[in-house]
Amino acid sequence: MSAFRGGSVMSLIVAKFGGTSLADYAAMSRCADIILANPDTRVVVVSASSGVTNLLVELTHKNIAEERRIQLIKQIAHIQFKILDSLGNPQEVAARLDSVLSRISVLSEELGQNRNKPSMDELLAQGEQCSSALFAAVLREKGEAASAFDVRQVMRTDSHFGRAEPQIETISQLTAEFLVPLLSSQRIVTQGFIGADDTGATTTLGRGGSDYSAALLAEALKATAVEIWTDVAGIYTTDPRIAPKASPIAEISFNEAAEMATFGAKVLHPATILPAVRQKIQVFVGSSREPELGGTWIRHQVEDTPVYRAVTVRRDQTLLNLHSLQMLHAQGFLAETFATLARHKISVDLITTSEVNVSLTLDKTGSDSGGNGLLSESLLQELSQHCHVRVEEGLALVAIVGNKIASTPGVCRRVFEVLEPHNVRMICQGASPHNLCVLVAESEAALVVRALHQNLFE
Ligand code: ADP
Ligand code: ASP
Ligand code: MG
Repeated sequence: MSAFRGGSVMSLIVAKFGGTSLADYAAMSRCADIILANPDTRVVVVSASSGVTNLLVELTHKNIAEERRIQLIKQIAHIQFKILDSLGNPQEVAARLDSVLSRISVLSEELGQNRNKPSMDELLAQGEQCSSALFAAVLREKGEAASAFDVRQVMRTDSHFGRAEPQIETISQLTAEFLVPLLSSQRIVTQGFIGADDTGATTTLGRGGSDYSAALLAEALKATAVEIWTDVAGIYTTDPRIAPKASPIAEISFNEAAEMATFGAKVLHPATILPAVRQKIQVFVGSSREPELGGTWIRHQVEDTPVYRAVTVRRDQTLLNLHSLQMLHAQGFLAETFATLARHKISVDLITTSEVNVSLTLDKTGSDSGGNGLLSESLLQELSQHCHVRVEEGLALVAIVGNKIASTPGVCRRVFEVLEPHNVRMICQGASPHNLCVLVAESEAALVVRALHQNLFE
């Protein structure tokens, strides 16, 4: 049963729309129709319109030329005002858009003088401010009571700017206090990706974080379902952009979906499943352009648990090779290495060890909203104090996701047959029953994914 009852017992759905779904007025109008078709969809979480966050990220870059800065702001204004101009009653939101755009201008100018993380996050958050104001207006234009709600009132995070950690308990309390009372009389449109720390400073959850925001709000609201509306009709057996013969999966378990998201299926932010699992909330993924195609349901329990579920790829991987003769028959080397990485807020991803070497991968999805990577000079220096460090870039991690992978005979033979022409830099298998991962050259990643997909699914 949901927290919101609106006078009668009913279910509550949180729907999230991604950037391409909000790219222009026509796309927004299609999303509004999806919402209006279901009276249970009370909370709508929006990303920035397609392209806007990338433009804002460029505005946070170092030493950006004044001419380019102005051009970027104009590009953002062009995307947003084009949507505004298509509204029947543009005046209603024009002042709001003007004020967001002048904030973008002020913040970007300020960052030129003094680059600092809080201002960067505030700047990055402006895309969602525009799209939420515009989208609420589109709903109102269709005769629906709707308003934009500033998610910073409820989405409390720590102060780790660029990659803030949500504070689940506080989010739940604030949601009950400030958001729930609004839901009986109107639909609420709010921002994904952004939050605020306890001083009120704006924070962001990392790129692609709107999926996570939607799941967090659903958890706080005890919603019955979260809908992730995007540009594909569900979760596919692999990225359909890489393998056109990829097919949509009707139903998938939380475990498998979490594994897919972690290992690169961009269709879901890796953290999205966590709140859904905690509250056993079903997640739906579908296409806002073609809702009639249906999509994928992510559920606690599913009927079908095949050995091979999907192939995923995570590009832009960094491999750290650590070599130390002290490791031989010694204790504590790994503990020391992990402690150093933890101090730099890096979680170890994949790891293999030999007598005097440790190899581990760092995942760029762990980078912050501004796209800044994880490897810093200070980290390398610290590691170099107790071992020899070699960094390899240009790698991609391909994962076969499924069930009972580690306990099904023949999986490795089948996979390695396909991989025969390729150089496999690292293999991880056995820790999880749900995946087998190989690290290959980035330039071969698409070929490897297509070959595996063809062999396992087509
Ligand atoms: P949004 O802007 O709606 O959040 P994203 O671009 O973040 O959308 O995610 C959707 C994209 O995820 C798809 O266009 C697709 O290319 C990619 N993708 C990667 N792996 C998968 C997969 N297994 N199934 C579906 N889409 C996938
Ligand atoms: N607008 C943010 C991004 O582009 C968040 C999101 O789309 O989920 O990363
Ligand atoms: Mg996304």
